Amino acid sequence: SLPSPLDRTSIISILILILLPITITSLVNYFFLQPIVEMFQQIGKMKKTGDVNRLVQNSSVVEIDGFLNTFNHLVDKINEQKEKLIADSNTDGLTQIHNRKYFDQTYDRVWRATARSHEPISIVMLDIDYFKKYNDFYGHIQGDETLKPIAQTLNQITRRANDTLARYGGEEFVLIVKPNSTARLNETLNKIVTDVRLLAIEHNDSPVYDFVTISCGACFIAEGGSWMKDRKEAALKIADEALYHAKANGRNQYVIRIFDTK
Ligand code: GH3
Ligand code: MG
Ligand code: MG
Repeated sequence: SLPSPLDRTSIISILILILLPITITSLVNYFFLQPIVEMFQQIGKMKKTGDVNRLVQNSSVVEIDGFLNTFNHLVDKINEQKEKLIADSNTDGLTQIHNRKYFDQTYDRVWRATARSHEPISIVMLDIDYFKKYNDFYGHIQGDETLKPIAQTLNQITRRANDTLARYGGEEFVLIVKPNSTARLNETLNKIVTDVRLLAIEHNDSPVYDFVTISCGACFIAEGGSWMKDRKEAALKIADEALYHAKANGRNQYVIRIFDTK
């Protein structure tokens, strides 16, 4: 009799021939292709949003793991640099406190938030007294050096989470605080004027004191609300007027003006 072409061994051989490529394809797909496709999908999303994020991916292939680690390390570096660039663009180079650009953005945001939260808020303009005389007497370079400890002193006094201090320009600074009363605001402003004077930076050409002094003008808003819409500039103007009065009254002092909301 003729041997059957489908004996046991032949069937097993055929099955192996069919199953082997399927198994190999599935393994390659599971271990190599799928992780690579998923990685590309995540990278595609990053391209769309413009955000660079770490790849979240499990892989048991050493080479893919190595690629993931290197990629994520680069992502960390890029994000570190990005944060540093943002911080630099918001920082005044000389005094290392926030700059005018940061203030403008923050003021707008805080102003709108206060209109919703109905909290009290105060905007303060601060200006070093007789600084032109200081420069003329001690030189512009020494003037620059003097701005640094003054800015740092202001920074230390206004460290609370809701405080925003910035160099407004030249020898002028601006401050946003959230005092719950004028008593609290008085306390802060008094500390600013006193602590700057206590730095004891000699100013022999100052008509008001032997040391460098500062004057402050504050606009106090007892209760925020919808009335605040489009009145951000008005608050700054009131603070500026208060500063003018502090200067006219003899400098080395502060003046508070209440925003009339009627
Ligand atoms: P007042 O008490 O009325 O504020 O008098 P002042 O002299 O401080 O005010 P004024 O506005 O007449 O002059 C400000 C001076 O501040 C003029 C400028 O030489 C000086 N100044 C502004 N920015 C800087 C700076 O970045 N570095 C130095 N060294 N001086 C500066
Ligand atoms: Mg000035
Ligand atoms: Mg001045």
